[in-house]
Amino acid sequence: MGWRLKIGQAAGIDVFVHWTFLFAPLYVIYKSWQGSWAVMGIMMVLLVCFFACVLLHEFGHALAAKFFGIQTRDIIITPIGGLARLQGISQQHPLQELVISLAGPAVNLLLAFAFVAYLLLTSRDFVPDQIDAFPQILLWANMALCVFNLVPAFPMDGGRILRSLLALFLPYTAATSFAANLGRIFAILFVAFGIYVREFPFVLIGSFVFFAATAEMQFMRDLTITNVTKPD
Ligand SMILES: [Zn+2]
Repeated sequence: MGWRLKIGQAAGIDVFVHWTFLFAPLYVIYKSWQGSWAVMGIMMVLLVCFFACVLLHEFGHALAAKFFGIQTRDIIITPIGGLARLQGISQQHPLQELVISLAGPAVNLLLAFAFVAYLLLTSRDFVPDQIDAFPQILLWANMALCVFNLVPAFPMDGGRILRSLLALFLPYTAATSFAANLGRIFAILFVAFGIYVREFPFVLIGSFVFFAATAEMQFMRDLTITNVTKPD
C-alpha cells in the first residue's frame, strides 16, 4: 500500500493515513485560495471532521465483520475515502458480505440522525447558513456519504451489496462479473460527470472504481481457472 502513517488504534485495528492523503488538504487550499485565512482554517477543520466520519464508516464495516469472526487487517484513509481491509471474508456466506457492506453506510445514517436530533433540540435550521455551520454541514455530508456509497458501483459498498444479493441466487463468479461490469459503467459515468462539472475528485474516484472492478473480475477469473486446473 506504499508509504503510510499510523495515526492510532481502536478495537485492536491499526488506523493508517496513506501519503496520498496530503492531496486532500492541498485540494482544500486550492478551493479556498480566494478566501481569507479564516475560511481556509474552517475548511481544514471541516476536512478533518469529514474524514472522521469516513473513519467511523470504516469501523462500521470492521465491527460488523468482527461480529462474524472476520478480522480486519487495518484501516487506511486515502483522499478518496477509507478502506477497511478484511481478512478471509467467505464466498460461501453472501449474507455476511451483505451485512458488512450495509454497516458502513448505516453508520453515516446514524450520524446524520444524531445531527438532526441535535438541530431539532437546539431549534436550528437544517440548511447551513454560513461556512462554519458545522452540525448542518456534517448532517448533509453524512447523508451524502451514505447515499454515494450505496451507488451500485462495485467495489463500492452499493456494488458489494448488489453482488451479495445476486450471490444468493447465482454462482459467486457470475454475481461478481455482473456487479463489476455495472461498476465499470458507473465508473465511466463518474469520470464523465467529473469532467463535465470540472471536479477532479470524481474523475479520481471513477478511475479507481474502474480499475478496482476490473481487478476483481480478473481475480475471480484466475480463481475459476485455478479451480478448473486443480479440481481437488
Ligand atoms: Zn464502506
